[in-house]
Amino acid sequence: MRDVIVIGAGGGGPVVAKELAARGLDVLVLEAGPRHDRPREQWSSYENDANNPLTGYLRWGPTDRSRPAWFREWAQNSFVWQLSGVGGTTQHFYGNYPRAYPGVFRGYDKPDRDAYDVEHRFPFTYGEMVPYFEWVEATAPVMTAAMGTKEQVFFRGCETLDLPVQTTKTTYGPSYRPQENAVLQPGGNAGRTSDPNLLTHPDATGCTFCGYCFQGCMRPVGAPRNQFAKRSTDNSYVPMALTADVWAPHGRPVELLTDAYVTRIHTESKNGVEVATGVTWRDNASGDEQREDARVVVMAGGCTENPRLWFNSGLPNPNDWVGRGYTDHFFDWVVGSFDEYTGNPKGVGSAARLDFPPYGGLENVGLPPALNGFATALSDSGIRGEYTNGRGPTGPWDGPAGRLMGPELKDLVAGGLDRLLSVLVITDDDVERDNRVVPSALPADENGPIPKISFPHRERTRRTTRNREFMARKAAELLRGAGARQVYRIDWAPLLLHVQSSMRMGESEHNSVLDSNAESRAVKRLFVADNSALANSLGGPNPTLTTQALATRTAEKIFQGYFGGDPWVASESPVVSTDPRISTRLGELGL
Ligand SMILES: Cc1cc2nc3c(=O)[nH]c(=O)nc-3n(C[C@H](O)[C@H](O)[C@H](O)COP(=O)(O)OP(=O)(O)OC[C@H]3O[C@@H](n4cnc5c(N)ncnc54)[C@H](O)[C@@H]3O)c2cc1C
Repeated sequence: MRDVIVIGAGGGGPVVAKELAARGLDVLVLEAGPRHDRPREQWSSYENDANNPLTGYLRWGPTDRSRPAWFREWAQNSFVWQLSGVGGTTQHFYGNYPRAYPGVFRGYDKPDRDAYDVEHRFPFTYGEMVPYFEWVEATAPVMTAAMGTKEQVFFRGCETLDLPVQTTKTTYGPSYRPQENAVLQPGGNAGRTSDPNLLTHPDATGCTFCGYCFQGCMRPVGAPRNQFAKRSTDNSYVPMALTADVWAPHGRPVELLTDAYVTRIHTESKNGVEVATGVTWRDNASGDEQREDARVVVMAGGCTENPRLWFNSGLPNPNDWVGRGYTDHFFDWVVGSFDEYTGNPKGVGSAARLDFPPYGGLENVGLPPALNGFATALSDSGIRGEYTNGRGPTGPWDGPAGRLMGPELKDLVAGGLDRLLSVLVITDDDVERDNRVVPSALPADENGPIPKISFPHRERTRRTTRNREFMARKAAELLRGAGARQVYRIDWAPLLLHVQSSMRMGESEHNSVLDSNAESRAVKRLFVADNSALANSLGGPNPTLTTQALATRTAEKIFQGYFGGDPWVASESPVVSTDPRISTRLGELGL
């Protein structure tokens, strides 16, 4: 019998695993996808090799790339971008680590208090969350992003919008600033040269400005795994979890099994209360099934797979909220073309942002060429420009919004990606009961019935739509202010990069799955510790810092509630994930 089983080694799971292993618990992590132990041999800078959703080394599928990716059902002209494997979707992520806006928490009483998703607030205060934010910010670690020309251009636009510069971690109101990122700042030769011979560790440390954040961070060359620049959990929390015995006084290393797909959570009824007792998992390679029991089970399979696993396990769902309330920041994409060099694909993927609570935010995002092409062609408004079918909304951008085609697209890329600036619109997106994960009617795969992501009304609430329109206009004004010659709004079709709240915690037992400790209301000893536990879409800030802060809090609740431990966040100092003791032990383990 294990102390704790964690399902999933993505953004949230490794946080709980690392924290509880540091306190001496016996923790098993089961991860459905691959473990890339030798990324410099297994990964590349070829976009198709990395990102192809069917065959890429980063995809939603098993280790063996000759086998098909796992299928999920979703609406036409949309895409849900989640990955399997150690690091989960953080292998793709950009490491932008803003805190959630205070207005989405219980007890917020500023004048704009009614302007958020007030029906779905967090069941505790922002003040209670701050020590957990600080804990993760120190552990990851989170740093002010290294910037370059594209950020200079972005800020030039911000300066024309009559907003202040933000100088605090907490966002108090509309403002702009460098990102706070989970990316190590460049040191030594890094950031000063693009000569690969000079960009090896230890002569170069931190971000080398390669521009390939999307494809899994494996630089600087020669650095130990826990000192790669981007703090995806395969580089940060997982190395800590695997070496907890060397850096924590009472630590015990986590056992991590990959290609291990959990297909069922087991429960027993004890004194009339349903209690989690363990899991069954399936080996992707052999098809063998195994059962493991534990005192506590933590679900961290992400917003789509957690509901699937719940349904497939036949767990109780008394208020019918499992899988509901799926939020996705209802993104949009606005691109400016410039007569000058912008350096758009160079450096830390995104190092500048503008926050506009309660509407959402904007950030610059640099992409390599193929993804850039994809991003300018994914629209819900058809083709824009001289070929337009006239459906796209109009505003301070050029012509109606829509996808770029033909001469216009050629004109845009002819100047080179180096003359673009792309702005991601991140919307504060209401929790909606009908946006949800349900069991698909399509055939099951080897792991059971598959999930369907269902947004039955492609339109969102009036507030979400207003937020997105407001932020898209701000993005266009920013680009004009920065001197863009042309500004294109793509009106993105749903591209689900940030997903949240499908197993939400909440103030009311009528519209939430989890209580304020992130423990399931219907099944005791069963916790959720990933984006799906979030009460709402945070006001728009990127979710991973808040998920990891919440997962830290959840680990503390588990430790206190089921293992007789004391709270630690208020009394201890976190260890930084780049600690050389971790590097040494990883070397000994051949990792
Ligand atoms: C292109 C891109 C850029 C992004 N940039 C940012 C950013 O800059 N900042 C930010 O905050 N967020 C960003 N995100 C979002 C970020 O990646 C997510 O917030 C984060 O990964 C969510 O963590 P999670 O644990 O909920 O899910 P995931 O990271 O998806 O992890 C879930 C894990 O569980 C495993 N799993 C699922 N089901 C099972 C099962 N049944 N058994 C065993 N294992 C299972 C999966 O294989 C996966 O590894 C970005 C996302 C994308 C796609």
